[in-house]
Amino acid sequence: MISKIDHIGVAVKSIEEARKFWEETMGLKVTGIEEVAEQKVKTAFLPLGESEVELLESTDPNGAIAKFIEKKGEGIQHVAFRVENIEEVLAKLKAQGVRLIDEKPRIGAGGAKIAFLHPKATFGTLVELCQRD
Ligand code: ZN
Repeated sequence: MISKIDHIGVAVKSIEEARKFWEETMGLKVTGIEEVAEQKVKTAFLPLGESEVELLESTDPNGAIAKFIEKKGEGIQHVAFRVENIEEVLAKLKAQGVRLIDEKPRIGAGGAKIAFLHPKATFGTLVELCQRD
């Protein structure tokens, strides 16, 4: 059903500030910065092996990332798992009574189809499903 960790989403106050650590200290490279207006975030992807680090900066004080940082501070906000067929996985989870944030996939950064599961259903981790074609 899930094949690997696609990326780890890290909430930061400033991508420009945080990328210095990830690039200069950790040796990763930002391959693209993209704004996803619908989710009120700017994202930067830093590939690492088969996975990536995704830095998330809020573009709106009322956005989910701004609220996350306000409550918990900067840090890991979600873990994304790669799936082959997101509609099929969502239908299966729904049939099992798993609480979903997104019942239908939406389009995330890089044109991926994404959907979030509710952290209450996953023992505290915000889980993103991610399908890349
Ligand atoms: Zn993500």
